[in-house]
This record gives sequence, structure tokens and C-alpha cells, in this order.
Amino acid sequence: MTVPTITLNDGHEIPQLGFGVFKVDPAETERIVSSALEAGYRHIDTAAIYGNEEGVGRAIAASGIAREELFITTKLWNSEQGTDAPRPAIETSLQKLGLDYVDLYLIHWPRPDRDLYVETFQQLEKFAAEGLTRSIGVSNFHQPQLEKLLAETGTVPAVNQIELHPAFAQTALREFQEPRGIHTEAWGPLGQGKYDLFGEKAVADAAKAHGATPAQVVIRWHLQKGIIVFPKSSTAERIAENFDVFGFELTSDEIAAIDSLDRGQRVGADPEADFF
Ligand code: NDP
Repeated sequence: MTVPTITLNDGHEIPQLGFGVFKVDPAETERIVSSALEAGYRHIDTAAIYGNEEGVGRAIAASGIAREELFITTKLWNSEQGTDAPRPAIETSLQKLGLDYVDLYLIHWPRPDRDLYVETFQQLEKFAAEGLTRSIGVSNFHQPQLEKLLAETGTVPAVNQIELHPAFAQTALREFQEPRGIHTEAWGPLGQGKYDLFGEKAVADAAKAHGATPAQVVIRWHLQKGIIVFPKSSTAERIAENFDVFGFELTSDEIAAIDSLDRGQRVGADPEADFF
């Protein structure tokens, strides 16, 4: 199965469907990521704070898959923002992953209260120039922080990774960032299982019409909207199910029905209010 790729604003290509490992137990990560690689995923989204970069690295090494076929993202944790801390942080992540470079390195949260994200991003620009990462981007940034980065640094972030699922569709932020060349990555694409997304009539009806599961319908909704998506699962059956989404297409009416589920409902932290 060939996953479509999206060309980022720096010319690098990212597989539009990947595998996320937030809350994947470090002791289980090698086995679970190996199962994702066997299912066909080539894009893995991790972060220093997840504590499982080593397991991701072991799965990559054991897979024998050529490095250039993989797309690996990790993220700089909040405590490592500033001028000096990011370099040891990326070096530690690379060492844990067993890689010479990552494909995408993100500032995990903006922490607007500390206001260090501009100088932090300037460090990421250096890492890209040195080849420690191919692309650089941000996560959980809102429009004011993106505006400040665009005004004060020389690089347009390749992506902004944000909470995004049918009840929290982030239309305004997408309309700001995408015309400026910042691709949208969805975190919590299945709503993290925190509301009855799969029981919504729009999702259930589309699943029935296509002989698909509700999770597959929600993943298709992301893909057909041009969003980069990497659902997490710890079970081999669901890992395979979430990858098997290229045999059907939602109609425009089905997309519109799922769009109408947007009610501005977060399931995770608010980047402007919940600081950690
Ligand atoms: P998701 O929306 O991917 O939901 C994961 C949950 O859905 C798990 O409980 C999983 O259960 C369940 N699930 C997965 N597949 C199915 C299925 N086919 N049917 C039924 N239930 C299913 O949440 P995440 O928070 O994990 O988001 C995805 C990724 O986004 C993360 O793993 C991480 O890489 C990234 N992320 C980034 C953040 C950021 O701040 N930048 C914040 C949060 C996430 P089970 O495992 O038991 O199958």
C-alpha cells in the first residue's frame, strides 16, 4: 500500500498517514512500533517527553528498513527551550533514536508565558542547516505565536501539529497557517477516545455505507481534508485497521456531515492556559 505524501514548504516529502506513540509504554514501544512498521507505516511521531524514543529506535534498527524510506518526527520538550538547551536535547533524542538525523523536529508547546519560542526556533534553524533534522516546525502554536515567528525568524515552520478531530476542527487556525505554507498535522485525530466520536451518526452512517470501521472513516476525513495524521494504537489489529484506509473514499456530503460535528470541543490541554 502506498501512502500519499505531502510536499512540505522546504521541499521534503512527508507520508500523510503515520503512527503516533504518545502514551505507548516505553517497555512495549519496540514491539508496538515494529508491528506498525510491519503493517506498512513509514512515518512515526514521537517526542522526548514520551520517554519512548529508545524503543522507537530499536524498532527502526530491527526493521532493516532503509533510513530514507522512513520519516521520523520528535519534539523538543518545554523545559529545554531557550538558546543553549535545545542542542543537547536534540543530540540526546538522536542518540536514543539511534539516528544521525530526524526528518522533522518540533517545538512541542509554545509556552507563551515564557516567550522563549523565537530564540528556540532560531536554534532549530541551525539544526536544519547542520543536517541534524531535515525539516523544522512547531506544535500547539496559535495564530499570535505563528505571526511572531513569521515576523522574527527566517524560516516558515513546515508544520504546526495541533489538536484536531471532528469536534475540534480548528478551521480558523488552518485558514491562517495553510495559505502561509504551514501544513497542518492533527494530534488526537480520533479524539483520544474521550468522547463518543464513533457513535456520531455522521461517522456511523459513513462507516456502514463503505463497509469500513468508524475509526477508518475519521482517518479518511483527515486525509481527504489534506491533514497529516498519525493515530495511535497499542493493539496490532487496530494498528492494521488504521492503516487500511485507501480502499474507499468519503463523498463530499459525508465529509460535510462530519464537518458539522465541530463544536470547538478540546479533549487535551489548551496551549494558552495549561502550562506544564
Ligand atoms: P488518538 O486520537 O490517536 O487516539 C488514540 C486512542 O484511540 C487510544 O485510546 C486507542 O486505543 C484508540 N484507538 C486507536 N485506534 C482505534 C480503532 N481503530 N478503534 C477504536 N479505538 C482506537 O490520540 P493520540 O493522543 O495518541 O494522538 C495521536 C498522536 O498525536 C500521538 O500518539 C502523538 O504522536 C501525537 N500527539 C501530539 C501531541 C502534541 O502536543 N504535539 C499531543 C497528543 C498527541 P488503543 O491504543 O487501546 O487501541
